[in-house]
Amino acid sequence: RPAIVWFRRDLRLADNPALAEAAASGLPLIPLYIDETGRPESEADGAATRWWLHHSLAALGRDLAQLGAPLCLRRGEPLAVLGALIAETGAARVLWNRRYTPHAIATDSRIKAALTERGIEVRSFKAGLLFEPWEIATKGGTPFRVFTPFWRACLAAPPPEPPLAAPTALCPCPDAPSADALDSWGLLPTKPDWAGGLAAEWQPGEAGAEARLRTFLDHRIESYAVARDHPGQAGTSRLSPHLALGELSPRRAFHAARDKAVEGAGLDRFLAELGWREFCAHLLFTQPDLADQPLRGEFAAFPWRDDPDGLRAWQRGRTGIPLVDAGMHELWTTGWMHNRVRMVVASFLVKDLLLSWQHGAQWFHDTLVDADPASNVASWQWVAGCGADAAPFFRIFNPTLQGEKFDPDGAYVRRWCPELAGLPDRWVHQPHRAPEAVLRQAGLSLGRTYPRPIVDHDVARRRALAAMENCHGGE
Ligand code: FAD
Repeated sequence: RPAIVWFRRDLRLADNPALAEAAASGLPLIPLYIDETGRPESEADGAATRWWLHHSLAALGRDLAQLGAPLCLRRGEPLAVLGALIAETGAARVLWNRRYTPHAIATDSRIKAALTERGIEVRSFKAGLLFEPWEIATKGGTPFRVFTPFWRACLAAPPPEPPLAAPTALCPCPDAPSADALDSWGLLPTKPDWAGGLAAEWQPGEAGAEARLRTFLDHRIESYAVARDHPGQAGTSRLSPHLALGELSPRRAFHAARDKAVEGAGLDRFLAELGWREFCAHLLFTQPDLADQPLRGEFAAFPWRDDPDGLRAWQRGRTGIPLVDAGMHELWTTGWMHNRVRMVVASFLVKDLLLSWQHGAQWFHDTLVDADPASNVASWQWVAGCGADAAPFFRIFNPTLQGEKFDPDGAYVRRWCPELAGLPDRWVHQPHRAPEAVLRQAGLSLGRTYPRPIVDHDVARRRALAAMENCHGGE
């Protein structure tokens, strides 16, 4: 009787323990992906993720077909889909890799109980994280709320297992079950098709993930510790969407980096960033309402403003603050934004515009190709000052100074706001302060070809501090 391997955010053949177990058993195999209905917004796929998912499923389907076991696509409530597939095929085992978000945990527990009761063997495996979120705890057994001791505890634990090889052959199910056509799911945007910039930047699928990993390890990791902060340079791995959809396992990234890179700051820093991914998963696992509630309770009554025009200007990259606008254009065009700039645009939304971090998290969730329910909300709360290990609210990024420090020659801003390209370095991060003659020479007309700032940072900073003071007497 066949076994079902239920793929979720683990769209790969290599280091896929559920698939490896099924392959080793020699049983006929039905690889399955379900487009799950009924997920809450925070765990449903955003538009950019759906674009990625389409291409990733196409790639996985090709790879599985080559091994002899075509991918079965079905849409619906997952227990109903599994129940129907079991009834059709007589499958006796269901295997999957674990997931850690609140709705997914509840879904998987419910399905496991229901199928076990029907005599179906259900087995789950660790594949999406280096460490199970419940394995790492403080000496007192409580969850960590500060990154450095969390990561120290991870590094003191038994190291992550080496990654498993991809199976070289699979035993197909003699009567392949019927499957939806991928195109019928409508995952790709049509009216309008805004995904041209995503297609130009990314190669979804396991082969694309492996190519990114190789490029990073061959050319970038040694200088990563410094280069990672400069958005104008290609200094980071850009592995995040591949990790988010599980085309690359964190174990593969961890071990490949350790095997390849010379020991030093670049390697340590890269592993620690993988550690931040673990930390965010640990936070959401131990604080399941992280998407709805500030981790620090005193922020529950924070007097966020309501400002649809400001929110729209931020979303569209029309704030008049070059680094913020460049970041939002990069996001809209490619589905990704450099980490330094994510921090700056997030700080601008929350502190300069005083709009709730949840507006920002929702926009990111929909537009990022690496949208991850844990990393996204934990990072937004971190920037807003209400999350774990966050800098205090009163430390407010000055977006102009951030630009001058991390994009000193304006390469990033010129790329994503080409209307500013003609400005000299001195003014490229603050066109509103440039003399009229300089603007004219650069072909720039403020308020016409580029917006004036929608807020004055110094005024906004004082307003934010006053709001915090009123909320809970300051920090
Ligand atoms: P690298 O610098 O090459 O890092 C390697 C990997 O480590 C990344 O691919 C990622 O998986 C992980 N990582 C790195 N930094 C972080 C971090 N601060 N937190 C968690 N994991 C990290 N990352 C997401 O994967 N999904 C999100 O939805 C997401 N939302 C964010 C929202 C905000 C407001 C901020 C400030 C950060 C967010 N991040 C998110 C974290 C970070 O910006 C991205 O992981 C990183 O920019 C991805 O680029 P990279 O792959 O080149 O990273």
